[in-house]
Amino acid sequence: MAGTNALMTLENFINGKFVPCNSYIDSYDPSTGEVYCRVPNSGKEEIEAAVEAARAAFPGWSARSPQERSKVLYRLADLLEQSLEELAQAESRDQAGLISPWNLPLYLLTWKVAPAIAAGNTVIAKPSELTSVTAWMMCKLLEKAGVPPGVVNIVFGTGPRVGEALVAHPEVPLISFTGSQPTAERIIHLSAPHCKKLSLELGGKNPAIIFEDANLEECIPTTVKSSFANQGEICLCTSRIFVQRSIYEEFLEKFVEATRRWKVGIPSDPLASMGALISKAHLEKVRSYIKKARSEGAQILCGEGVDTLSLPAKNQGGYFMLPTVITHIKDESCCMKEEIFGPVTCVVPFDSEEEVIQRANSVKYGLAATVWSCNVGRVHRVAKKLQSGLVWTNCWLIRELNLPFGGMKSSGVGREGGKDSYEFFTEVKTITIKH
Ligand code: NAD
Repeated sequence: MAGTNALMTLENFINGKFVPCNSYIDSYDPSTGEVYCRVPNSGKEEIEAAVEAARAAFPGWSARSPQERSKVLYRLADLLEQSLEELAQAESRDQAGLISPWNLPLYLLTWKVAPAIAAGNTVIAKPSELTSVTAWMMCKLLEKAGVPPGVVNIVFGTGPRVGEALVAHPEVPLISFTGSQPTAERIIHLSAPHCKKLSLELGGKNPAIIFEDANLEECIPTTVKSSFANQGEICLCTSRIFVQRSIYEEFLEKFVEATRRWKVGIPSDPLASMGALISKAHLEKVRSYIKKARSEGAQILCGEGVDTLSLPAKNQGGYFMLPTVITHIKDESCCMKEEIFGPVTCVVPFDSEEEVIQRANSVKYGLAATVWSCNVGRVHRVAKKLQSGLVWTNCWLIRELNLPFGGMKSSGVGREGGKDSYEFFTEVKTITIKH
């Protein structure tokens, strides 16, 4: 590949040291479509070395008191905070294997690493091959924070190669995985012969249910955000909007107007609300759903194929698309059933409470839901019947990190609290309800 020497080249972090790999893959800048760094294409050999390091570090680290371990973690948190600007530019009791996705790369990685090592485990993490740079930058801070060699090992590469080597390794007894449902199926299959403990945080097909007494002034901007924040590439994003028929037309008009104001822009544009999608393959996948919807007779009210996106010349090869609103779509359509994980949302009318609950629950996922109504009794009734790990009322993405997080049905397993509880967030208070 021409110009390879000038590219940033990442290395694995094993036993406290950066270690080169004998094979690399290209990583692309989504805003231009150009290669911007090389990522180790690790495999079984690198996993063996990481397991060895994690095993050797385990007795010493797990013997430290929780107070000593927490001091190290606080130092690491301070160092990460001091490096935020640089990071923003790049966009118990065992060896735990941690596999994370690309959509919130550093957040999801640290969310796994911190509690695991706080409890005395030593870990091997495999970040997504699409977004490896922030994890590599974090490795540079570990020694300074006082994390002993071997406690945190980071091995880069693809899922089928290094991810599977980690999952299948007999001496890694626990796998914490965040990613898609099809990958989870593969992980369950590979780990079954070893009876590994699994924590699976998977996808969603999250409904927003908007009743006729909702405060639309608050509901519309929040629902635009819940549909299109981070390009719709957040597992908690809304992708099915059910609106009570009496306000359906009014909602739709205002929602489309607000969506058109949700600006798509390049990373340096301070007014941009949305950037490029993660990869060319993902952009094509998201577009294929819109094409399918069109072929089924659905209407595309704004976005892809309707409005024009203008980008600077150097970003023409980037993976951008406009936020897209689909209507006149059947509940049976794959756009209403499958996780698209992009800036696409479907808006459909409903008539009754019972009907909308049944339709909202009619997908295999059960991660998050949003209910908009001023009627407290209705909000409680509906939230209780929704098959969803989280229910927000009259708000979105308000999180209480001490509460259990995760989904029901195919949205995950291993969630604290189990399937018999769900989290229920309102703007004013956070409560957990058992049902
Ligand atoms: P993905 O399943 O394709 O990949 C996730 C990770 O698994 C990556 O590191 C990948 O390299 C690895 N992987 C892929 N194949 C593997 C295999 N055969 N064995 C072992 N590891 C393998 O998912 P993605 O596209 O990176 O992320 C998007 C998905 O993650 C969406 O479904 C989204 O909803 C989900 N997600 C869920 C949560 C949650 O908390 N529930 C949070 C963020 C993202």
